[in-house]
Amino acid sequence: MSDNEKKSPAKELEEQLTYRTPDIAQKDPAEFEKAFDFCEPYKAFLTEIKTEREFAAKAAGMLREAGYTPFDETKAYKPGDKVYYENRSKAVIATTFGTKPLSEGIRLNAAHIDAPRLDLKANPLFERKGLAYFKPHYYGGLRKYQWTTIPLSLHGVIYKKDGEKITVRIGEDPADPVFYISDLLPHLAAHQNARRLSDGIRGEELNIIVGSLLYPDEDVKEPVKLKVLQLLHEKYGITEADFYRAELEVTAAGPARDVGFDRSLIAAVGHDDRVCAYPALRAEIDTVSPTYTTVTVLTDKEEIGSVGTTGLNSDYVLHYIEALADNAGVRVRQVLTHSLSLSSDVSAAYDPTFADVFEPNNSCYLGKGCVLSKYTGARGKSGSNDASAETMYKVIDIMNSNHVYWQAGEIGKVDEGGGGTVAQYIAHMDIDVVDLGVPVLAMHAPVEVVSKLDVYEAYKAFRAFYR
Ligand code: MN
Ligand code: MN
Repeated sequence: MSDNEKKSPAKELEEQLTYRTPDIAQKDPAEFEKAFDFCEPYKAFLTEIKTEREFAAKAAGMLREAGYTPFDETKAYKPGDKVYYENRSKAVIATTFGTKPLSEGIRLNAAHIDAPRLDLKANPLFERKGLAYFKPHYYGGLRKYQWTTIPLSLHGVIYKKDGEKITVRIGEDPADPVFYISDLLPHLAAHQNARRLSDGIRGEELNIIVGSLLYPDEDVKEPVKLKVLQLLHEKYGITEADFYRAELEVTAAGPARDVGFDRSLIAAVGHDDRVCAYPALRAEIDTVSPTYTTVTVLTDKEEIGSVGTTGLNSDYVLHYIEALADNAGVRVRQVLTHSLSLSSDVSAAYDPTFADVFEPNNSCYLGKGCVLSKYTGARGKSGSNDASAETMYKVIDIMNSNHVYWQAGEIGKVDEGGGGTVAQYIAHMDIDVVDLGVPVLAMHAPVEVVSKLDVYEAYKAFRAFYR
């Protein structure tokens, strides 16, 4: 090296003392190929999975196929054994037993498998001026105007009065019909255009079109509604009263697709939080002989506050860990306090179009790796877990020693908004936890966008966490 190519002392000092999130493209171009390969089955999974029930059923099947057996409290397990537990068809826990005794703690990774959507009301079907509609109540924080004028699909279950369970899935097969919420044409939108954006489409304007043919009889008061009921009866054997025993969810219809000339991004329904839940499941399955016993939690109801028996505000995960502890003959408190956990959820990717709401030095970016968030929450970290420096040290060390590309980020500027995760419920059990996830563009929109690189780095982080 000649003298004029030598770095100046200032340059050297700068390299030594400052930190920049590494650029994967520059440091490791081979990572692209691995990420693209990893994301092909993820896309297929997302195309097949639109609801928490569908996710739970698919995950349980994948676990069984990988040799997992239902957890039996009375059985003796040895390192490398794999078990799983299903909670009411909407949440799943999976474990690979580690070589260290349970008294030294577990490694827990929790992601949620529910996503914002439109749920049908209990009495959903009505007719108005020649059109039949379903009436929804939206689930989770969503921007209602985004859900109009796009093809929609219907997923869920209906119980008939004799207890027979009907599974519904319409709108995903290209041969299926889809459903549709109308919006005004620009020619007549002068008054609607003057509404605030948050009020652009109101909750009771989200009427889902399900039919327009009428039952041909002048005696019938609501012939279009009757025609729909007739078709539903033919297909499923149900009557209107059966809707009271149903859980029916409406999402955007259609498959996961590559975005961009370079195919680097994926547009799909429900990346939040299947973009963490899927890599978490894959990492669990691919873990062969972990040091610490793994507990992979795929939970429900995060989007509405982790409520209900299938959300993390319920004690079902604690009961599972208690059963593991009882099974191993150790006190559960000892297990919990020595454990380490990831709360794996998405964060808001920096959006150059809406740069105003982001703080560039503390945002996460598409394609720069998975995102570590010390805290989430809003208005002074409220609703957050706020991981300790000790927990940050442990998790960063795991990622750095395993060549995981990661970035730090929080969800936008202070007081611009915010949001919580399941981390607070894990911390409530006395388990150290930090948020680690994937940056998402247009989070909670009917179709969201992620980077393939970030999905793969999340998988690598979860693998490393279980190593
Ligand atoms: Mn989420
Ligand atoms: Mn969310």
